[in-house]
Amino acid sequence: MDATAVPETTTRPREPSAAAGTKYVYFFGSGRADGNKEMKAELGGKGAGLAEMTNAGLPVPPGFTIQTEACREYMRAGRVSAEVDRQMLDALHRLEDLEGRKLGDAASPLLVSVRSGAQASMPGMMDTILNLGLNDESVLALARRSDNPRFAYDSYRRLMQMFGSIVMEVPKQAFEEIFEAKKKKRRAKLDTDLDAQALQEIVTAYKKVYRKHARRDFPQSPLEQLTLARNAVFHSWDNDRARHYRRMNQISDDLGTAVNVQAMVFGNLGETSGTGVSFTRNPSTGAKEFYGEFLMNAQGEDVVAGIRTPLHISEMKKILPGVYEQLREITQRLEKHYRDMQDMEFTVMEGRLYMLQTRNGKRTGMAAVRIALDMVEEGLITPDEAIFRVDPGQLYDLLMPRLKEEKDTESKLLTTGLPASPGAAVGHLVFSADDAVAMAGPAKKTPVVLVRAETTPEDIHGMEVAAGILTARGGMTSHAAVVTRGMGKCCVAGAGEIHVDEKSRSMTVRGVVLREGDWISLDGGTGRVFRGKLDTVPASPDDPGLMKILSWAEPYRKMGVRANADIPRDARQARAFGAEGIGLCRTEHMFFAEDRIPHMRAMILAQNEKERRRELAKLLPMQRADFIGVFEAMDGFPVTIRLLDPPLHEFLPRREELMVEIARLEMRRRKSGKLADLRRLLARVEDLHEFNPMLGHRGCRLGITYPEISEMQARAIFEAAVAVARKGAKVHPEVMIPLVGGPKEMAHQKKIIQRVAEEVFAEKKQRVDYMVGTMIELPRACLLADDIAEEAEFFSFGTNDLTQTTYGFSRDDINRFLPSYVEQGIVKQDPFGALDRKGVGQLVRWATERGRAANPKLKVGICGEHGGEPSSIEFFHSVGLNYVSCSPFRVLTARLAAAQAAARDKLKMETGRTK
Ligand code: PEP
Ligand code: MG
Repeated sequence: MDATAVPETTTRPREPSAAAGTKYVYFFGSGRADGNKEMKAELGGKGAGLAEMTNAGLPVPPGFTIQTEACREYMRAGRVSAEVDRQMLDALHRLEDLEGRKLGDAASPLLVSVRSGAQASMPGMMDTILNLGLNDESVLALARRSDNPRFAYDSYRRLMQMFGSIVMEVPKQAFEEIFEAKKKKRRAKLDTDLDAQALQEIVTAYKKVYRKHARRDFPQSPLEQLTLARNAVFHSWDNDRARHYRRMNQISDDLGTAVNVQAMVFGNLGETSGTGVSFTRNPSTGAKEFYGEFLMNAQGEDVVAGIRTPLHISEMKKILPGVYEQLREITQRLEKHYRDMQDMEFTVMEGRLYMLQTRNGKRTGMAAVRIALDMVEEGLITPDEAIFRVDPGQLYDLLMPRLKEEKDTESKLLTTGLPASPGAAVGHLVFSADDAVAMAGPAKKTPVVLVRAETTPEDIHGMEVAAGILTARGGMTSHAAVVTRGMGKCCVAGAGEIHVDEKSRSMTVRGVVLREGDWISLDGGTGRVFRGKLDTVPASPDDPGLMKILSWAEPYRKMGVRANADIPRDARQARAFGAEGIGLCRTEHMFFAEDRIPHMRAMILAQNEKERRRELAKLLPMQRADFIGVFEAMDGFPVTIRLLDPPLHEFLPRREELMVEIARLEMRRRKSGKLADLRRLLARVEDLHEFNPMLGHRGCRLGITYPEISEMQARAIFEAAVAVARKGAKVHPEVMIPLVGGPKEMAHQKKIIQRVAEEVFAEKKQRVDYMVGTMIELPRACLLADDIAEEAEFFSFGTNDLTQTTYGFSRDDINRFLPSYVEQGIVKQDPFGALDRKGVGQLVRWATERGRAANPKLKVGICGEHGGEPSSIEFFHSVGLNYVSCSPFRVLTARLAAAQAAARDKLKMETGRTK
């Protein structure tokens, strides 16, 4: 698309056709607007807000909004239809009549701003051009009329700069060099130290630069300026920044932006002018206080550029008391009108206030809770509405410490990875799990951040002591991501720009080398990685405000919320957050503990069943003790325990490491017992090697080839259940078979479990109720759900593996190509983060319906990572699942998201979520 296409009067072959009767342009001015706040789809958030404020009689500079359909036309055909131009000209004439001035007129010029504004707020992603209508003649008129030539030439050079870089892609640098050179020559410290003469010279130099890069002169025709600027804003819908932002926020590429053309008001007309932003409440704490900042004698972009430090809004009371009072009154009115916290832009021109924008303000999770509660108290909203004012994804905020954002925070940014597990981590760099343990010290007093290319189960001890984890590879369901989310520990995964050199204990990012011991800070909520030691803000997990919101929301909730927890500590944590049971206890994690892994390895190395059983017998009491702890922690609630799932080689050392170790020993001493052991180990590792371990000898395939493993685990479960039940607690074990692909695998394992259960009950002379069910994580299992349901009492969707096997995307390697897929719009987002409703979701729905048709008592849940993700939870609610299960630190999020989904159904709310 060419942003410089100017409409012509002759008809071209590819003339886009205007839909008959389409109203493309909406006018607003002198107390009346064609649009209103409901028309965000057409007018964008900004246009709808301007119309609404105009209708409410607020001081809004008049103008018009060209609606999003024109942008869509532009995207389809590379230009807009003649009808758009015609309606735009009509609106311009109306604006000129209203203002009594003409665009760019040599005697009495009207100047306008041209701003983007999409339906969903995309702050700073698209382009804006100010002071449009200035040319060599109108600048003289502006100087005369304002009696301020400095201001006039400053406005003109700003227009050329913005127009040049946005419309003609003249490098910003080219303008900046001229400006800085002039400042140097005039020994000017600040931009404002340059006088009219200097600015006039800058304008002359800018013209040359413009001609050199754009290969044409800066347009003197105001209408040509307007048309080109409008097209450039439409064009900016598709710039890289905007596309990236839409990917991150799941905004459709098809919406397009509106363009707002509005009479300019100037905040840079002297000491009674200024510009700023204000909020009706504090967006980071939610406190009911007038909040914001402003700059005197400045234009909008000066506030954003951060060249001058803005003043707190309360200072305005002293400088311009009348304006301050008016602004307060207006902002309060707007909040009442919108019934939500407002974020506004304003400009003061020679003591007169103008409102330029209002929208629902973005806020932290903590602020969202407080604002919702206060607004109920104030009678502004009902408790039912308050439920939707908190974004469930933001509740994490309340559970994790956060990095304190300071002015210079961004300047310390090293790189950005995936926000795998939220919270903040600040510590010394370490590059191996052993070093993490050593540096953290016995009392874990020294904070460490463990950096790995990727983590494996062998790193678990280092992960345990680390404040946070950073990996260069791996996606949202990589080992590091899943384990840290379970631990409630901050993790940034897949930061591909980082090169980790474990040997030299250093890492390199964009040419910066960091070594062991250096400070590093992670923001798991955004994936940002900073160099140095940043400050943190502590967590507030049992916030009474949040509990109140939940008490309004939860009566609507239909689905249960359980937690994925493997050890008693996590189970207790989950229960404290309100989990109603455990939906997934991954038993293999118990085998990685230091005192167990030798027995596990011995079991794997066993030559025959007898030897294997001997080693399993050693693991039995340990596993039983674990289950006792988990059952006790979940007294009264169900606990789903999954039999061993990962391939056995995961419990053995890596092949390459063993080979190095063997070679080293061979060079030193020829014959040693250790060498023989290592050789035996290597032989077994090679024996167990698989080309595709994720599709290999894992899940129920292990239990089918080595039934004694399932037997031992079943025995540990039932002995623990009986022991806990004897002490008076209520136990509800649910034994879960992993990676089942059809009814025969299910039946095979079920038979073993039932036999062992009967043996234990007979030995102990006590029974407990239990269930046997399966994970559904293969497409075949979904397709044969009815047959499997005849054997299973419950299904639990393992959507991590189900996503992996449905797409054929490796969950551990997806990050290699995902960014490119997202960039090109092949997938909207990481399917391991938010459930792919179309594909994987269809399988979930199908399997649930077929399963229940065959077995009406079938209980159905989900325990993949999607169980803690709000939009996926909404989908699971629509399928009618019985429960979702997620990591403990996502339980609150899941509770609120499940309640919102049900309340939305019941209250028929469109969506009240404040984004
Ligand atoms: C799953 O596959 O969704 C699941 C919960 O199991 P795991 O992540 O342990 O493979
Ligand atoms: Mg799985």
